[in-house]
Amino acid sequence: MAQPIALTKKIQRAAEPEECLSGYSTEEILREIISRMGEDPSRQGLLATPGRVEKSMAYLTKGYSENASEILRGALFDEDYDEMVIVKDIEIFSLCEHHMLPFFGKVHVAYVPKGKVIGLSKIPRLVEVFARRLQIQERLTRQIADAIQDAIHPLGVGVVVEARHLCMMMRGIEKQHSSTVTSAMLGCFRQKETRLEFLSLVRQQGAGGQ
Ligand SMILES: [Zn+2]
Repeated sequence: MAQPIALTKKIQRAAEPEECLSGYSTEEILREIISRMGEDPSRQGLLATPGRVEKSMAYLTKGYSENASEILRGALFDEDYDEMVIVKDIEIFSLCEHHMLPFFGKVHVAYVPKGKVIGLSKIPRLVEVFARRLQIQERLTRQIADAIQDAIHPLGVGVVVEARHLCMMMRGIEKQHSSTVTSAMLGCFRQKETRLEFLSLVRQQGAGGQ
């Protein structure tokens, strides 16, 4: 059975907390957290919970072991097409890095190619690489745009993320139905005309719209 773990400064005096905890498995640490909540980690319903939480956290943060440029490599094609390419309504589920609670919503990505295009199915994969990490919505938005910029050096990239944050909804800080919108506009998307075209296409009810 796990020993009590020194999670607080009061108990841990000498070494850094990370050093002190490094001898314990993630499951042991989670069991300790459960007991500090005032729960009994040995009751039947909670017995397998630390293991499940560990697996679930590994899945929700798998983006750390993935590399955006590797994913895009092999999916870049020479093409003369120079109109706007839009992939919209990409679902995201991410974790806010301040509370480790989910935020979720939709991402809309657009770019205007300059000699190269990205295989369409790779754009949701790219979004996933950055979403499956501890994030803030602003950085997530920017990282998606920068990754596309770096991969194909297009004339411009636009990314809009609309998301709802459980850290606000569950903690009663904002109205439950409010959503946060962030955008990153690079290159020609800084021009009003291009930006407005992108935003109006995003708002249009497409084949997949509701
Ligand atoms: Zn938060």
